[in-house]
Amino acid sequence: MTQGFQAVIGLEIHVQLNCATKMFCNCPNRPGDEPNRNTCPICLWLPGNLPRFSQEALEKATLACLALNCQIQEKSAFDQKVYYYPDLPKGYQLSQFHRPLARNGWLDIVGEDGNSQRIRIQKIHMEEDVARLVHEKEGRTPVSLVDFNRAGTPLVEIVTEPDLHSPRDAMEFLRVLRTQLRYSECSQCSMEQGSMRVDANVSVRPLGRDLLNPKVEIKNMNSIRHVGDAIAFEMDRQVECVRGGEPVVMHTRLWEPDARITVPMRGKFEGPCVPDPSVPPVVVEDSWLQEIIQKMPEMPGAKVERFVTRYGLTHEEAQHMSSEREVSGYFEKALDHEAPPRLAAQWIATQLLPLLKEREVSLETTSLDPGRFAGLLFMLGREEINVNAARDVLKRLLESTATAAEIVDQCGYRQVSGAEELEALVDRVLAENPSAVENFRKGASKAMGFLMGQAMQASKGKANPRVLKELMTKKLG
Ligand code: ADP
Ligand code: ZN
Ligand code: MG
Repeated sequence: MTQGFQAVIGLEIHVQLNCATKMFCNCPNRPGDEPNRNTCPICLWLPGNLPRFSQEALEKATLACLALNCQIQEKSAFDQKVYYYPDLPKGYQLSQFHRPLARNGWLDIVGEDGNSQRIRIQKIHMEEDVARLVHEKEGRTPVSLVDFNRAGTPLVEIVTEPDLHSPRDAMEFLRVLRTQLRYSECSQCSMEQGSMRVDANVSVRPLGRDLLNPKVEIKNMNSIRHVGDAIAFEMDRQVECVRGGEPVVMHTRLWEPDARITVPMRGKFEGPCVPDPSVPPVVVEDSWLQEIIQKMPEMPGAKVERFVTRYGLTHEEAQHMSSEREVSGYFEKALDHEAPPRLAAQWIATQLLPLLKEREVSLETTSLDPGRFAGLLFMLGREEINVNAARDVLKRLLESTATAAEIVDQCGYRQVSGAEELEALVDRVLAENPSAVENFRKGASKAMGFLMGQAMQASKGKANPRVLKELMTKKLG
């Protein structure tokens, strides 16, 4: 359908900073509380009250900018962005329109074609969030209520260059961005909960051309998947327009998740953007910036490389272990307790995390500390127990405070690896199954699986499969 065309996509991402207070007053920054609980004359935007810019907001915003490889500007400033809408009764939003906090950032993603691509970030600016409108009914009359808890919540807006070219790459970019921001601990970045909101600007052009055609801005997507779906729909729609000889005109559209379409949206009145006289310019001193840089954790890219070279993980395993700070922290603590590194990476990714998810707990809240977990992997690594037993021990570890060794002994899971003991067992199984032995010697390799199964059963699941197979192969010649 879209053959011969390419999408051009630029994203604008609003991220709520997890500060204790709002951006210009001392009200708690908890938008989800009982409506209008967290308000004062400043964030109700009553006349005659001066905003006081929060240093914590600057710190968290700076962390965000550093996580996205941006250049922090020594001096930035707030403007009054004028628009009229009931979620902004004072008529303007404080936003760094002309002089943003940071410019010229970038993030690398692995693109659809498998190659690394650098996506440029034009700028990051700070702004205050607006109030939230709640639409209800009073009897049969629809009413709109205003909740000011969110008014004045510290935000950063991240604006990318139009460097993305497919729904998939846009989604990948957002995942990488979210990981980076979560690492810097400036925000939870949950699209579902509204702490990260994305607007997608989309245009199309003939493949191989360089032009920037009029774009459409899409709003109202509350998951990364929705962003991808909305862009894909919009691409199709625009290509169809162009093919029908109808040029795309610039406007704003809304994603409707149930119908899975975008529809035109009534534009807000937008006024001018003028320098704000009430908030002094924001000055970032170099010595202060160096302190913030010191607070930055090791970021995922560096961590992946270290995990590969230091612990011998595959690139994929290292990426899994670096996806979240709590995962990498747990992983390295397990290694401190002598868990074999690759086994730990594999078991965290494929066993532990899924089990925790089922139980709705996280690595931070689980009662299974890295030490007890490591005890299990230590035994598994030394083949003291087999994989099936280890899976069961893991479940039991989550439900008790016992150590892995205690559980293994209680359940009689200790694996039999002694060649003498197993040799007798193998001899018996071969003697009891002469036809399978004959089939194997005639070339039916399936018979080996059967014989292994018999021997395993005879050992009540405790035989070390590796030793068993070695013996079996030797005896069968
Ligand atoms: P506006 O003036 O409408 O705010 P900007 O130039 O500030 O437009 O860009 C806003 C966002 O739209 C940026 O993320 C930018 O990368 C993106 N963008 C700009 N032009 C295009 C285009 N022709 N197609 C797609 N995205 C675009
Ligand atoms: Zn307030
Ligand atoms: Mg703009």
